Amino acid sequence: MIYADLIMQSRPWEQLMAARQSDRLAHAYLFHGPPGVGKEAHAIELAAVVNCKRPQTTGACGTCDSCRKMATLQHPDVQIVVPLPRRNPIGKSDPPLKALKPVDIEELALQLGRKGSDPYAKIALDGAQSILINSVRELRRLAALKSAEGGRRVILIFDAERLNHPGPAAANALLKLLEEPPPDTVIVLVTARPNLLLETLRSRCVALYFPALAADEAASYLTGKFGVDRETAMMVVQATAGNLQLARSLLASNPDGNLTRLVDELLEGLLQPRPQKWQQLVADLVGMNRQNKAELGFRLHLLQLWLRDLMLLAQVDAAAGLVFEERRDELLAQLAGFPQAEWGMATGFVEDALSMLERNINPTLVFTNMFLDIRQAMRGREPAGAGVLVQVGHAV
Ligand SMILES: [Zn+2]
Repeated sequence: MIYADLIMQSRPWEQLMAARQSDRLAHAYLFHGPPGVGKEAHAIELAAVVNCKRPQTTGACGTCDSCRKMATLQHPDVQIVVPLPRRNPIGKSDPPLKALKPVDIEELALQLGRKGSDPYAKIALDGAQSILINSVRELRRLAALKSAEGGRRVILIFDAERLNHPGPAAANALLKLLEEPPPDTVIVLVTARPNLLLETLRSRCVALYFPALAADEAASYLTGKFGVDRETAMMVVQATAGNLQLARSLLASNPDGNLTRLVDELLEGLLQPRPQKWQQLVADLVGMNRQNKAELGFRLHLLQLWLRDLMLLAQVDAAAGLVFEERRDELLAQLAGFPQAEWGMATGFVEDALSMLERNINPTLVFTNMFLDIRQAMRGREPAGAGVLVQVGHAV
């Protein structure tokens, strides 16, 4: 294998290896599934094994000439296509890199290098929204040539839904390639959002689903990689729905591993009787939504997990499987403070907020409503007018 620490997705991978051994690999695959579960890295492993000089039943040898080139993502027969920014105007027959400034090209090389050694790294250039039609035109030019090393040509298209952005020009150009697949070529489209691809493209690919990773496996990866304790790792895995790419960037930006303090700020705002305090928190969240959506989503998921723990504890005194097990005493104290609370409902309001943000609804409105709704749910079946929280609610 090329990667030492890729968590193998045995189901799609075994299917690919069986097809390879019986020489029945398809011309085109669509790797889809949730983000951060290793789809791109599996595509790279596939490219490696079909060109490997000493392939094994489980994958590439990792040491031959071809594998060594693959490990730096500089194999002459393997093309990797990613979205690129368009900094310069380019002509119809120009190579795609002509759209970039030298600094972008350097950055791209750097990120490709990182991807070669790190299966969950993401190649993402600033301002890269689209897969350029010039990238697809270049593929078609190259596909017409013989492979450089006598193996198979492999084309990997990451963030493939970006073929369709802003218009379908690049997707249509690729369609022509798929309609008349060049011999000895495997094309892999990788995306977490297959519904955004043209149906005509999708229907020409063999679809392979890469499911969410088992929480245990993902947590072991994080403890090994970041040295965080098991509890923190599990919490991050749950709050990111097993998206390792996201989990890693969150751990990297919170190196002390003290992630529970992130939920504390939210809780404090939630429990605050003075409106100025939590209005400030709403403003902070709006700012974070603008600057760092990933971190915002992570914090809201943490809040959701906290509320879910409260819900579990409210149902069963000795509830097991709490995410914030080590803070059980605090959870119990909160539970006692809000005896009428509808914690399940409160959890749902965080989910609602997340989905409204995705639909681009005004964030100030979303967060204000989320806080008011959660507070209302915490008040639960108490008669209206009881307690400070109601007055705060009416003050807005
Ligand atoms: Zn090899």
